[in-house]
Amino acid sequence: MKVFVIGIGLIGGSFAIDIKASFNEAKIYGIDRSEESLDKALSLGLIDEKATMEELGKADVVIVAIPVDATVNILPEILDNISDECLVFDVGSTKKQLCLSINNHPNRRNYLAAHPIAGTEFSGPQAAIANLYRGKTNIICEVEKTAFKLQERAMEIFTRLGMRIRYMDPASHDKHIAYVSHLSHISSFMLGKTVIEKEKNERDIFDMAGSGFASTVRLAKSSPAMWTPIFKHNKENVIETLEEYIANLTKFKELMERDDFSEIYKEMEDTNHIKAILKGIT
Ligand code: NAP
Repeated sequence: MKVFVIGIGLIGGSFAIDIKASFNEAKIYGIDRSEESLDKALSLGLIDEKATMEELGKADVVIVAIPVDATVNILPEILDNISDECLVFDVGSTKKQLCLSINNHPNRRNYLAAHPIAGTEFSGPQAAIANLYRGKTNIICEVEKTAFKLQERAMEIFTRLGMRIRYMDPASHDKHIAYVSHLSHISSFMLGKTVIEKEKNERDIFDMAGSGFASTVRLAKSSPAMWTPIFKHNKENVIETLEEYIANLTKFKELMERDDFSEIYKEMEDTNHIKAILKGIT
């Protein structure tokens, strides 16, 4: 099986590692805009060979793991260049614009829209790790638009990598993911910004910061090159989540100003319900 990974960073590189480990016959080809990333991917053993877009005709599987705006730009060209039997799937964190953009492409049946809910705050080939996807959810959109034989090939890959599959339409995916992923990243980035601006002497932050601060700002280490296009693609849903979040912050501030600590206690007690909701999620 010839697997072409376009964008050999955290997500693409982690697919490369697990596919190589799960399919004896798999050969991994890497395509990336940066020669340096490709050299690193080769030296780390993530890919077997560097490749170019002109070689896509020999691919059995193409995985597109680049920022979502770049995926929208490049996907038609990928679908133009593949063979009839090739499966193409992307891993982008937004799905609506992407699915719309290739809806009428003659090779739409070769494409599967996927979003593995797995990752870390690190990026680039050096961030790729084994077993990133084991036990994680993979959201598939518009599965009925993918050729049945190619759906089966995709499911074989996802199952061997240990993923659970959920099906969703692209608009619902983007709406729900805005709450559980995109808002958390904005909240973490802005918490980090607030503390950095106040504590000009970074040593003080590190001296006083406990594990609570570190875990809450962990996502603020994430790549702006990946996140800016996500916010751009999911602008309306993200603004809606922000309005609700800001309203909650404002209410909390007003309760503080009114010395209404019994209501503050209740707000936190109600939110403790998150323990039950998140049970089993690591
Ligand atoms: P990453 O580690 O930064 O890797 C992306 C790779 O793609 C980099 O090597 C980058 O090269 C390359 N690239 C960027 N634009 C390109 C282009 N136009 N053509 C070819 N290569 C290009 O990012 P990632 O975290 O793997 O994210 C990749 C995709 O996965 C994104 O669509 C993201 O939404 C999705 N995703 C991410 C996570 C997560 O937690 N990170 C989770 C699920 C899905 P440079 O180094 O030169 O920029």
